[in-house]
Amino acid sequence: KQAGGGHTSFQQQEDGRASLQVERLTALHRAIERDELRLYFQPVVLAETRAVVAHEALLRWVRPSGIVNPLDFIPLAETSGLIVPIGRWVLREAVGALKAGKLQRVSVNVSALEIRQPDFVQHLRWVLQESGVEPRRVLLELTESSMLEPRFSAVLKEINAMGVRTALDDFGNGYSSLTALTNLPVQVVKIDRSFTAPISETTPDGMKALKVVRGIVTIATALGLLAVAEGIETPEQADLLLKVGCVYFQGYLFGRPEPLT
Ligand code: C2E
Ligand code: MG
Ligand code: MG
Ligand code: MG
Repeated sequence: KQAGGGHTSFQQQEDGRASLQVERLTALHRAIERDELRLYFQPVVLAETRAVVAHEALLRWVRPSGIVNPLDFIPLAETSGLIVPIGRWVLREAVGALKAGKLQRVSVNVSALEIRQPDFVQHLRWVLQESGVEPRRVLLELTESSMLEPRFSAVLKEINAMGVRTALDDFGNGYSSLTALTNLPVQVVKIDRSFTAPISETTPDGMKALKVVRGIVTIATALGLLAVAEGIETPEQADLLLKVGCVYFQGYLFGRPEPLT
């Protein structure tokens, strides 16, 4: 390697990456100003009857050039801190939909950085009180990454104390999951799509996935938790998951995330 040349090209690459980040951050700031963020809602159904019991609120960034999915901007919102004002907007919007009678119950995703805010619980309480919406109609979805937050368990208990339920999202897509299940004050477990998607009775891997989900559902039920299977796309998956005792389903088979009409 040429010392000088190599260094320069590396530096240019770094600069390029940094300025791309700045550009993307500016664009996200502008999205908020221009009111380009939207909430879509996906149904959660009772496995046995397929009756819709709740909806999960999912962020979309609606740009003139097309719709941007959360995985393409939430990481940046999290590292920049923008997720805090965005999350507050999401909560107000979701609770507003409950108040307007457009939804029965709503599930809202919450990032670790939001939980870290000292006034998170106070803000939640304020939004609920101001709207007059029953706290029981709201479920907050948290991931294992939030477990690293100091006071996480205490915050969850405060949330539960006001009547808002909590869920462990993306269960299985991480580590120390069983510890999370036994130690955290959550009422719902959402089983990650990486377990439900491969389920099938006709392949060895599909059968393995089914056994894993059966195990998770058994543990969840024994702990008094409700299990929601995410990412169900085929009737075969739904049939098998019903047989292993899953009580709630979410997936394209039952409805895609859509804006409220
Ligand atoms: P998540 O909370 O696990 O949400 C479920 C994701 O799975 C959603 O992706 C949903 O569209 C997708 N999904 C549902 N059913 C199916 C299916 O049958 N097949 C497939 N292939 N996918 C399915 P989405 O909307 O792209 O959101 C991705 C993630 O972004 C969410 O995962 C959540 O972690 C995060 N997110 C979304 N909205 C918010 C928000 O308002 N705040 C925060 N902090 N995070 C959010
Ligand atoms: Mg979720
Ligand atoms: Mg999930
Ligand atoms: Mg997720």
